Amino acid sequence: MAQLDLRKKLSVLADAAKYDASCASSGTSKRDSKGGKGLGSTEGMGICHAYTPDGRCVSLLKILLTNFCIYDCVYCINRASSNVQRARFNVDEVVELTLNFYRRNYIEGLFLSSGIIRSGDYTMEQMVLVAKKLREEHDFRGYIHLKLIPEADPKLVEQAGLYADRLSANVELPRDEAMGRFAPQKDVGVIKKAMADVRRSVEAARPQKKDRARPPKFAPAGQSTQLIIGADGAPDTEIIDRSAALYGGYGLRRVYYSAFSPIPDSSAALPLSKPPLMREHRLYQADWLMRFYGFSPPEIGEATTGGMLDLAIDPKLAWALNRRERFPVNVNTAAREDLLRVPGLGVKSVNRMISIRRYRTLRLEDVARLCRGIDKVRPFITALDWTPGGLTDAVDLRARLVPEPKAVQLSLF
Ligand code: SF4
Repeated sequence: MAQLDLRKKLSVLADAAKYDASCASSGTSKRDSKGGKGLGSTEGMGICHAYTPDGRCVSLLKILLTNFCIYDCVYCINRASSNVQRARFNVDEVVELTLNFYRRNYIEGLFLSSGIIRSGDYTMEQMVLVAKKLREEHDFRGYIHLKLIPEADPKLVEQAGLYADRLSANVELPRDEAMGRFAPQKDVGVIKKAMADVRRSVEAARPQKKDRARPPKFAPAGQSTQLIIGADGAPDTEIIDRSAALYGGYGLRRVYYSAFSPIPDSSAALPLSKPPLMREHRLYQADWLMRFYGFSPPEIGEATTGGMLDLAIDPKLAWALNRRERFPVNVNTAAREDLLRVPGLGVKSVNRMISIRRYRTLRLEDVARLCRGIDKVRPFITALDWTPGGLTDAVDLRARLVPEPKAVQLSLF
């Protein structure tokens, strides 16, 4: 095979990495290079994120070590039977690229994943070596996210956590049974075990009051995973249930949702078209409701029809429209959890309202000042000078709140 130059490899292996959404770099510990020590920082201007129009994070150098892979997951462009151009970096090339990009201010850190070369152990070893060299030889203090090879020796995973800010193992398919059909060489049990091991190590590295010496840091930004949406037929309710179980079971920081994109020469077992990107967006909103607004998975289910989130409106509004008996809530007396369920009120607005109402009774104009748009809020609240009357239960409330969909030119093909 002809040797590729570094630029060509970068183009192949950055393109191959774009299918992995799990790369936001929030939540790490603070490091900097003040005082002329080391290189890089995770604070100051901090790790900032740039997102491409399809939602991918681009502030990290996001690459694969190689897109050669001995596995044949049918949904993956890099699977063994795929006809794509292949490339492979060596460890030093990834280290040099990361340092050069960092010095030019192109990136805040590195996201490194890989196809499986030779074995899980060999691949993980190479990835750990990249992180080790960056940290130990170059005193690199920027962000590092390493993708785990779940079947690798736990000792390698342990080492990865000492150098990386975040680790992630992709669950990929919301339905366990789909793994056998779509990724026969992978084992859900092995992935779950790797995630459980990471959870234990992250928790063991949290300093306790009784500790005299701080335990060594282990993946301070925790772990994340990715679910592919639309490949295995799981409806949104099932995906949300799965996410809730992952957050609870493995202490994940984030579950990322990636709309399945059909790939060249794909298996007949896969759908021919990709799900609407809006579906991915609605799942992120539902996930947000679970993590920050106290919604349970069954409540998210109440925002769905036939198990699917409404693409036209956000899940919180959909839930409120389906649970009108919970409204209106009195902004002057309602509990925080009830205020958080009002469409159009965010966490910050609710916190402000709660602190203001300690010394003043809120009027509608006060609420309007604290939220982005009062029209969406009005039917669901009462205030000193406002009651929605029959508006809350109006048959046409949805039509009043939801803008007419724009006409779309139909495709001829
Ligand atoms: S192991 Fe990863 S890179 Fe290899 S085919 Fe499966 S998803 Fe793709």
